[in-house]
Amino acid sequence: MTEHSTPPTVAATAETAHPAQPRTDFIRQIVREDIASGRHSAIRTRFPPEPNGYLHIGHAKAICLDFGVAAEFGGLCNLRFDDTNPAKEDPEYVDAIKEDVRWLGFEWSQLRHASDYFEVFYRAAIKLIEDGNAYVCDLSAEQVRQYRGTLTEAGHASPFRDRSVAENLDLFTRMRAGQFPDGSRTLRAKIDMASGNINLRDPALYRIKHVEHQNTGTAWPIYPMYDYAHSLSDAIEGITHSLCTLEFEDHRPLYDWCVAKVDLPSHRQLWEPLLARGLPTAPSKPRQIEFSRLNINYTVMSKRKLVAMVADGLVDGWDDPRMPTLQGLRRRGVTPAALRLLAERVGISKQNSVIDYSVLEGCVREDLDAHAPRRLAVLDPLKLVIDNLDVDHVETIAFPNHPKDESFGTRAVPFSRELWIEREDFMAEPVKGFHRLVPGGEVRLRGVGIVRCTDVVRDGDAIMAVHCTLDPDTRHGLPGADRKVKGTIHWVCAKHAVAAEVRLYDRLFDAADPDDDADGKTYRDHLNPHSRRSVPGWVEPEAAKADAESHFQFERTGYFVTDRRDHTPHNPVFNRTVTLRDTWGKGR
Ligand code: ATP
Ligand code: MG
Repeated sequence: MTEHSTPPTVAATAETAHPAQPRTDFIRQIVREDIASGRHSAIRTRFPPEPNGYLHIGHAKAICLDFGVAAEFGGLCNLRFDDTNPAKEDPEYVDAIKEDVRWLGFEWSQLRHASDYFEVFYRAAIKLIEDGNAYVCDLSAEQVRQYRGTLTEAGHASPFRDRSVAENLDLFTRMRAGQFPDGSRTLRAKIDMASGNINLRDPALYRIKHVEHQNTGTAWPIYPMYDYAHSLSDAIEGITHSLCTLEFEDHRPLYDWCVAKVDLPSHRQLWEPLLARGLPTAPSKPRQIEFSRLNINYTVMSKRKLVAMVADGLVDGWDDPRMPTLQGLRRRGVTPAALRLLAERVGISKQNSVIDYSVLEGCVREDLDAHAPRRLAVLDPLKLVIDNLDVDHVETIAFPNHPKDESFGTRAVPFSRELWIEREDFMAEPVKGFHRLVPGGEVRLRGVGIVRCTDVVRDGDAIMAVHCTLDPDTRHGLPGADRKVKGTIHWVCAKHAVAAEVRLYDRLFDAADPDDDADGKTYRDHLNPHSRRSVPGWVEPEAAKADAESHFQFERTGYFVTDRRDHTPHNPVFNRTVTLRDTWGKGR
């Protein structure tokens, strides 16, 4: 794997590529040229997750690229489960991955599994043996390591390297028949033990593993290695551009070697059985192109660590709203459009970088600002009584659902004498520059008119309620409504408001690079203890009524979503997706 030095952090001001303009990253440039030159008439890509965990936001970048490139150039993209490593895989992951890809807004051309091709891989291995390109090796894993050499020293040949084709065929068919114990032999490619690229020093193509596989059961006691299975799977599916992350750059010569030596397009007998199984096949000689991974600060993205966090109960499962998994982000209220916008904004290059978390939040705000209806909610309530309204006064006020988009329509918001306002919108002893409600002062109640504070009810030091009078000439729609006051605050009607649980989330880690173990700490030591708070709040009836997974802007407060699991109209639960403005690190 290629090592890369500490990457620069991309600031929140990353340039937005205009969506209407064709994208010009180096991969799309290559595809464009391949089409222009007639090298390919149709583009085929694939997204190849290993079903050993849930997809995370890094995968979203790969999905947007693989499916996006195919769509932009009139091609097709497959979803392929890279299920060659049976011990770690779980059908729960397979289902979640399919759901997540669709949720992100993409549909695959064909759903495949690397395990669909086990027979092809096997036949191809026989061909490699017959061509003198592979041999069965009896060295132990430890010996293989010793023979391999180092970056500065050539490796040396296995004593089994020059076995005859006949002996290799005999041993390999017996490996396949299950006659040897785990780890006792491997099939290795015969390439170059002195290669400067260690991946080419006779890498293993097959290992013996007597373990049941989710799709093929106990049919196979041998399993192909990643590079071999991946390159041939791409070739089988007729993939033209195999897009993957930079750590595979050093594997590309091996990828190319497998594609060239097996040469599927010229050897129909190797893949023909797939046709009878209803798997249309038109092999290609695919080309691998690498791009940089998505990294985001305050986040860990390794599947191994995410699995551990779930297993050890550091979070509430894969869809904990603080998780960088697509299920977690979804539950938090992040939309597919926001993630697609992020992928576009981050762009595609070979330059490793760490994206600032605020870039993600900016994408979320941008999408939700345009698409989330507005609602009223009060999270830290203080009672406000309008003394000059009758005790039984009730009216409804038409509120626009979106200030910038009339197509959202209006809704009826109940209003009466007693309201809840945010406690922080009142100050008994105002500091300089505070423009909301103060004793004797005026403020506009959103959609209603101007009130003046006439009295403050206390219990000891605690402020229990404020009393006001409403200036009837300033009611919404009347000429006096234009009278200027400095502040406008929101409210909900105490009589009609619905009690809701409001979950306030923050970043899961309190360090920009939770993985940096220079200080002897691991990501586990950097969990942010304040990343989740649950507060009772009051919401207007229209908000409580919403279906699960409805997105709203609570005016002046932030973007919220009804919880996918727990919300019901009788028991409303809202998750804060993101605050209205970027207040991180500003003493919130
Ligand atoms: P692990 O975390 O165990 O290394 P992985 O992230 O490589 O796993 P895969 O299921 O193998 O997970 O990934 C599927 C595809 O998603 C691969 O093509 C991989 O290159 C891509 N991918 C994974 N992580 C990222 C990331 N952070 N940014 C962009 N693409 C990614
Ligand atoms: Mg991987």
